[in-house]
Amino acid sequence: MSTTESIDRLRTDLGAIDHSTDARKLRSKSRDRFAQSPVLRDLLRGRNAEIFIAPQTKDELRIAVAACARHRIPITVRGAGSGQFGQGVPLSGGAVIDVTALTGVIGWAGAGKAVPRTVRALTGTVVADIDAEIRPSGWELRMHPSTAQQATIGGYIAGGHAGIGSCQWGILRDTGNITALEVMTVEEQPRLIELRGRDVNTVHHAYGANGIITEVELPVTPAWEWHELVISFPEFEQAARFSVDICNSDGVLKKVVSPHAHPLPQYFPDFAGMVPDGQAMVLLMAAVQSVPNVEDLVHANGGQIRYRCLEGKGTYGAPLYEFTWGHSMMHYQRLNKKLIGLLALYPQQDLYEAIVRIHRDFADLGPVHLEMKRIDGDLSCQGSPVFEFESQEQLADITEKLQRAGLFIANTHTPVLGASGMKPWGPKEAAFKREFDPYGLLAQGKADDVVTDDITTSTALPNSGWSYRLSN
Ligand SMILES: Cc1cc2nc3c(=O)[nH]c(=O)nc-3n(C[C@H](O)[C@H](O)[C@H](O)COP(=O)(O)OP(=O)(O)OC[C@H]3O[C@@H](n4cnc5c(N)ncnc54)[C@H](O)[C@@H]3O)c2cc1C
Repeated sequence: MSTTESIDRLRTDLGAIDHSTDARKLRSKSRDRFAQSPVLRDLLRGRNAEIFIAPQTKDELRIAVAACARHRIPITVRGAGSGQFGQGVPLSGGAVIDVTALTGVIGWAGAGKAVPRTVRALTGTVVADIDAEIRPSGWELRMHPSTAQQATIGGYIAGGHAGIGSCQWGILRDTGNITALEVMTVEEQPRLIELRGRDVNTVHHAYGANGIITEVELPVTPAWEWHELVISFPEFEQAARFSVDICNSDGVLKKVVSPHAHPLPQYFPDFAGMVPDGQAMVLLMAAVQSVPNVEDLVHANGGQIRYRCLEGKGTYGAPLYEFTWGHSMMHYQRLNKKLIGLLALYPQQDLYEAIVRIHRDFADLGPVHLEMKRIDGDLSCQGSPVFEFESQEQLADITEKLQRAGLFIANTHTPVLGASGMKPWGPKEAAFKREFDPYGLLAQGKADDVVTDDITTSTALPNSGWSYRLSN
């Protein structure tokens, strides 16, 4: 925690820059969506910032960051606050710096040209707003989180990892999926540094621990006419076969392939009437020209298309993708708050067999929800059986059992990067942190070289984490 005097001195230095020490504001701006995890629900409650700062421009951000550096005030950067792992919670007080006012598409390398390349936006730009701006030109982002309507692009790069589009394009970390990042250092005279090539991954998914992202440049792809489909299969094995086959059909343009075993379809009030009780469901987004191929594959696997509409026009009142990825658990928990899952990555070799094996061997634990995605150059999927949380010991036990069954587990019930195991934190990341954050003020407790506090120990699981061959 900072001293009252240092916060007072910071306030003086902020001058007219929007800031607040109102307790209610501090509480609400110190939370993200960590309550989705029963492990984090109580653990992170009450961890609040001491000051909230909302710069309106990059220049104001620079002044605020310089002042924090001068007074050695810890900094937690905040986008829309939709992170689920408590990444956005200030673990040691200090300042929450909200960057949501830094918005706008500032470079659109495709505007008016036949062959666009990339789109560049300020960090606080809402992800869906970027697509809204470039789609009239016939282009869109390769991928976005299921929270695209709320999440900022900087928050997605710093806190997210994949999403809608990943079944075609891979995850954010895969080479070529982030073109460039502009990062501000936390020094008494902050610098702006442009990262390209492999360096982007050093800051990506670092929870804002080794630099403040100010601009993001991403590759674009043709914006097809996307259709949403709700597909039922009598058996989960058929849904799995279809999901793997459609993802391995490179000519079929798809954006999301989200299988849910029985009884999970019944947990979505909007789909329960479409999918016969007892059956599995796949939520799918496909380009209109690929729908005939989808129909072939559905029929070949004994399924039935129960509903189809243009993107965003469903009777369920939201884009279909808001029922997939992180949103699925949100819907399940509306029915039963105790439900959780683990972020298990399935082996790429014999993927279909692994999906079926886990489904059968862990049937007693709960029904499986998966998201198909490419990662590190090959097809995989992530997810796990959905089960009722009982205790940290139960979670550890299930983690070990699923790993013995061949899955690779990232711990999404911790805000500590090393314990999560989704992002490698090696010498390069640590070196960036020393250079970009020499006083160690950013994201304290989440990515320090040695973290041994109560949060690390009480959220630890015996998880293997993920590793990457191509993008390391
Ligand atoms: C229902 C639900 C569904 C989700 N679905 C997906 C999904 O499909 N795919 C996926 O990858 N994630 C998903 N997520 C988690 C994901 O991290 C967020 O939805 C989103 O991408 C984060 O954006 P945000 O603006 O809310 O960031 P925040 O939550 O505000 O921040 C996330 C992290 O990044 C840091 N940060 C924010 N801005 C900056 C910056 N400018 N510089 C440095 N650090 C910064 C924060 O300190 C924090 O550690 C989901 C979450 C929910 C609740």
